[in-house]
Amino acid sequence: MHIYFDNAATTPLAPELIKMLQELNFNLYGNPSSMHSLGRSARKAIEAARERIAAYINAEAEEILFTSGATEANNIVFKSINHDLIITSPTEHPSIIDPVKSTRKPVIWLTVDRDGFIDLNELETQLTANSDKTILLSIMHGNNEMGTLQDIVAIGKLKAQFPNVIFHSDCVQTFAKHDIDVKAANLDLISVSAHKIHAPKGTGFLYFSERLRDQLKDNPLIQGSSQESKLRGGTENLTGIVLFAKALELKSSQKTLQLQEYFLTKLKQYPGIVLNGPSDLSKRVLGNINISLTTSQFQREEILLQLDLRGIAVATGSACASNNQVPDIQTSYVLRACRIPEEIASKAIRISLSQYNKKDEIDFFFAKLAELMPCSTMRAR
Ligand code: PMP
Repeated sequence: MHIYFDNAATTPLAPELIKMLQELNFNLYGNPSSMHSLGRSARKAIEAARERIAAYINAEAEEILFTSGATEANNIVFKSINHDLIITSPTEHPSIIDPVKSTRKPVIWLTVDRDGFIDLNELETQLTANSDKTILLSIMHGNNEMGTLQDIVAIGKLKAQFPNVIFHSDCVQTFAKHDIDVKAANLDLISVSAHKIHAPKGTGFLYFSERLRDQLKDNPLIQGSSQESKLRGGTENLTGIVLFAKALELKSSQKTLQLQEYFLTKLKQYPGIVLNGPSDLSKRVLGNINISLTTSQFQREEILLQLDLRGIAVATGSACASNNQVPDIQTSYVLRACRIPEEIASKAIRISLSQYNKKDEIDFFFAKLAELMPCSTMRAR
């Protein structure tokens, strides 16, 4: 049995898309910039995908800039958009934190509570105190480790009172899982990746509000040719983009939610396992579960490896941060920012479910966990 519970790191291609990929490779291979009919078909397919994706977030097609993924989109935000000051949170993804640090601009790191939520009052105070500056405010919609779902509509309402604020959100973990309406949330920029929704790796987009077009054009991250309305050089990832839009038709949030609820119901039966992050699922990323095996003899990496030996793939935190670990830092920077006690954080693992998982995989997972915990703490209450 092989069980994949690491869908927040990446997802397998949806079976329907595997079939479509083969057909596309046979029939849709022209360069979208070529003038012949194969090129024109390719262009048409990209523009249809752009419209489909834009409509999904209540944006205009011209406001979607296709990229190689969200890391690139996040880098564009900090390298191409003019700003004097950045306000962000310490639980952002490394593809935000590293570009933020490299801007060498002043940064205000907001505090987060034990479940990872920012404090809107603190944000308002900082926006008011710095209202003479151009502020780049970057708050992720859903946290990839703890599953914290920030209220981007409330943040956007606050932002609307400050004309000098540009509001960006990393929506990688929430796109096609939770509502994102860029107008309702007063968002100026969002970053999204295809490979988290069973579409191919190497594709993503940056949504940008029209008022930022000139800045993106003046200072593109990737120069070269005139693709993407001169905002990003390079031949478009044709099949990736087409399949990305197609994936939107295949999603089933209801199935994932049922599995997430089933997992949490089972969890309640076991003392010794603690849930990290919000317990209210309306405030948690769909499919995300972060638990600490507090009574286990094993630390988080050992738990991951023990589960792997039993055919189950889980994560300890962000796959993108795992190469950064130094030996004396044994816990996740996200859990540390939330002030989760060391003894709990050191035994934390992330399970991320998708619509393709099954209930019996969750049953199997709990059966295998029993082998990593003392008997008394695994017995159903
Ligand atoms: N932001 C978040 C919250 C993520 O989870 C990821 C992927 N781990 C990224 C950004 C980077 O996305 P990509 O893999 O498309 O570069």
